[in-house]
Amino acid sequence: MKIKYRAYNLRFKHPFTISRGTKTHQPTLIVELEHFGIKGYGEAPAISYYDIPVEKMIEDLEAKKNSIEKFSFIDPERWWHYCHHLFPKNSFLVCALDMAGWDLYGKMKRKPLYKLWGLDISKTPVTDFTIGIDTIEVMVDKMKENPWPIYKIKLGTEHDVEIITELRKHTSSVIRIDANAAWKADEALEKISAFKNLNIELIEQPLAKDDWEGMKFLFERSPLPLFADESCVAENDVGKCHEHFHGVNIKLTKCSGITPARRMITKARELNMQVMAGSMNESTVGSAAVAHLLPLLDHVDMDGPLLLAEDVATGINFDYGKVILSDQPGLGITFLNSFS
Ligand code: MG
Repeated sequence: MKIKYRAYNLRFKHPFTISRGTKTHQPTLIVELEHFGIKGYGEAPAISYYDIPVEKMIEDLEAKKNSIEKFSFIDPERWWHYCHHLFPKNSFLVCALDMAGWDLYGKMKRKPLYKLWGLDISKTPVTDFTIGIDTIEVMVDKMKENPWPIYKIKLGTEHDVEIITELRKHTSSVIRIDANAAWKADEALEKISAFKNLNIELIEQPLAKDDWEGMKFLFERSPLPLFADESCVAENDVGKCHEHFHGVNIKLTKCSGITPARRMITKARELNMQVMAGSMNESTVGSAAVAHLLPLLDHVDMDGPLLLAEDVATGINFDYGKVILSDQPGLGITFLNSFS
């Protein structure tokens, strides 16, 4: 097997603000695995909150390049285990390698991943479109610029209820909220009670990631469903979230790829929890990986390619929230660049 990689810094259409700060570009790593002339692609965007920059992914990859290239690839699950043991502290890099392994495997089997998994792609949740924190005027303008059936609104300000009250006047679309861990339990309960009257669908990560006591309090009282994002990173977090959240937001990059994500979905269903998949502003490469999981999900947030001004691949399209996959094998994407 041969491996190549390239770092990108993809520009957002508009600067993107959440409760932790603003960014104009999304750094991301794309890897290419080549096996008997077939190429598979994977992606891991760097998110400063999780403290794995692209440089660290490259450093780790370079250190173990020989071990990667000597692996005899047969199936993606064994490949994931191998990578997980090679890079136990770098779930982002493992995600990119796992995704490339699945793309490669689908191409070897000449089937799109959802078909390999026996999934029916005809009934899938529509993706939301994210509106970052800004002045109310700008947030309203962004909604008008992007008519969409579901908006995800980022909050975590002094005037969260005022923002939603105003946005609600301008749209009858579904609105879900992501506080990115910005609230305290009492404050959250007060705000969520107000949001209930503004016809809000769900709340993502209201409290700090390890505020389990606060979450228990909120879980027992919240009039709206609560979803874990920052509190649900790795596989064993699904069990921890049970009876603290109503659902989990699974992200491939956080949990280290498609392989563990599929196990997390199964676990969440066993616990009667709802399942959402999210993104970290992946390009079409990483977003396509999420798209193949769509039939297994209740909700999805995969608007990366819509928020970014630049992309590295084609292969998925969006029609007013509906995600349209290609019928090409593997991830079904066409990479636009060459690594050599
Ligand atoms: Mg989130």
